[in-house]
Amino acid sequence: MRIGAHVSTAGGLEKGIERAQAMGAETIQIFGSPPQSWRRKAHSLGEAEAFREQAAAADIWPVFIHGVYLVNLATSNPENLIKSEDALIADMVLNSAIGAKGVIFHIGSHRGAGYEAVFGQIVDSVRRVLAETPEDSWLILENSAGMGDSVGRRFSELGEIMKEVASPRLKVCFDTQHAFSAGYDVATADGLAATVDELDREVGLAHLVAIHANDSKCPLSGGVDRHENIGEGHIGRAGFEVIMAHPAFRDQPFLLEVPGFPKEGKKPEGPDKENVDRLKEIAAAAA
Ligand code: ZN
Ligand code: FE
Ligand code: FE
Repeated sequence: MRIGAHVSTAGGLEKGIERAQAMGAETIQIFGSPPQSWRRKAHSLGEAEAFREQAAAADIWPVFIHGVYLVNLATSNPENLIKSEDALIADMVLNSAIGAKGVIFHIGSHRGAGYEAVFGQIVDSVRRVLAETPEDSWLILENSAGMGDSVGRRFSELGEIMKEVASPRLKVCFDTQHAFSAGYDVATADGLAATVDELDREVGLAHLVAIHANDSKCPLSGGVDRHENIGEGHIGRAGFEVIMAHPAFRDQPFLLEVPGFPKEGKKPEGPDKENVDRLKEIAAAAA
């Protein structure tokens, strides 16, 4: 089990490696481009190559890219659909250049149209992205918190897309907060066992490639995407003890996407050493 976090690459890709080392992250996720914008940030081949070398030297692996938040493969707006596909394609190309595993992304929201109505469009878009990108890069669907008609709240929705696309390059990332918020009780042994059973039945554990390890600001079935620091939320330390002891997750990379703790009166800046240490401590106790 490798433990790490989403890290900022402000100032250049290589800064992400420095930040990862400072917090003790063994695996990382980065944005390939600003997440709230369609405008791509350009990365030179030299920068990509330097990142790849530094990650290897620092023994940081696997590396993932998180897609931009504007991506919505369930949109009814044709222009936004093309933009979404192009953003994923650009991240997949970068993913290959930096030697990362794949691009984790949120499928998007059907905004009331219904999952059935957007299913075919999602499948077509995923196929296009896979067809136009390097073979060594995975495209990774993330389960959703169920907020605002987002697709992927139930594992069956992810599973149906996987089965229809039928590509060995299409994978799944499991976000603990999103699952909890969507009504999967990952915080208790019985609840987690039922959750993993359903994930295996609908998606297949063989396709699971990453865990987003986040505590939850909202209670079970709260339906909102609100991450909390490890041990401070409704999943709690006891919940993470259950999660990290489960055999299904033993060989998975755990990536924090938490708000972080305030330091010396400064505002929290995302995943930090305190959260990494907490996960490592829980993992050691569970081993
Ligand atoms: Zn995400
Ligand atoms: Fe996530
Ligand atoms: Fe989230």
